[in-house]
Amino acid sequence: MVGPYDPFRLVPPLNYTSRNPAPFRVSVSENVMLVMDFHAHLAHTEIIGLLGGHFYPEQESMEVTFVYPCKSASTGFQCEMDPASEVAAREVFAEKGLEFVGWYHSHPTFDPQPSIRDIENQTQYQEMWRREDGLEPFIGVIVTPYDEEHESNVSRFQFWVSGSNYDLSGQFRTPYSCQHSVAPSETLPEEMFSQLSGLVEEYQNYDQRVNMTESFRDDDDISKLDKLMESLSSHISVSSSAAEEFILRVKELMNTDFLPKEKSNAECHNNFDSTISKEKKENE
Ligand SMILES: [Zn+2]
Repeated sequence: MVGPYDPFRLVPPLNYTSRNPAPFRVSVSENVMLVMDFHAHLAHTEIIGLLGGHFYPEQESMEVTFVYPCKSASTGFQCEMDPASEVAAREVFAEKGLEFVGWYHSHPTFDPQPSIRDIENQTQYQEMWRREDGLEPFIGVIVTPYDEEHESNVSRFQFWVSGSNYDLSGQFRTPYSCQHSVAPSETLPEEMFSQLSGLVEEYQNYDQRVNMTESFRDDDDISKLDKLMESLSSHISVSSSAAEEFILRVKELMNTDFLPKEKSNAECHNNFDSTISKEKKENE
């Protein structure tokens, strides 16, 4: 039965099979996973960004090696990419000799399955990057950082593409999961740390910023900050001392720059005064 068109409906991607194989393989570096995951944890609203790397047509393989977090023109539920940051990403990718190979966005608390609107966006991108041989080397990634039902503290990821066939309703191209392998990163470059601190700066005064001191689940007291750190650690396989040092630096960054603003002295005084006057009243 064909339901009414609902752009927000989530569509579980199908799996490619040996009869209907994936058009190309995808390898993504750990550092790319880490930056996407970090970005997704910062806001209650959907975040968005672009992925850079290379496509090797002879090998039918794609390597994703770089993340460009974008500003989103977010309306709370659905998010669109700010056109200016797409232009800026273009410049950075050209400078680094990278190709556009994908985009990512977050579903803060709900399943990492594409909505019909996501599929439409993805399909547009794929058509834009379609090659003469018909391949469309452009992937989508969805990150779900705060699924309370998920047993692990590690975020959920979905790598996907729009398939060549249409859904039974004929409204959109059927989404498929793309199997991907994660390539270990040998270093935790300073450039990546700067990206994280840039994101902290961008989101620290955002009204939909996540309060990292809150607990992640109702029934235990692991904080969102600890949850974030555990998820980030899962993307790190460099030597344990370098990993520890990096995690400590990120934690300190979050603790100094991303905590809810402490009340200014003036506000404290006001509270104090109102407490006093209340007490006075009660005594009167
Ligand atoms: Zn979405």
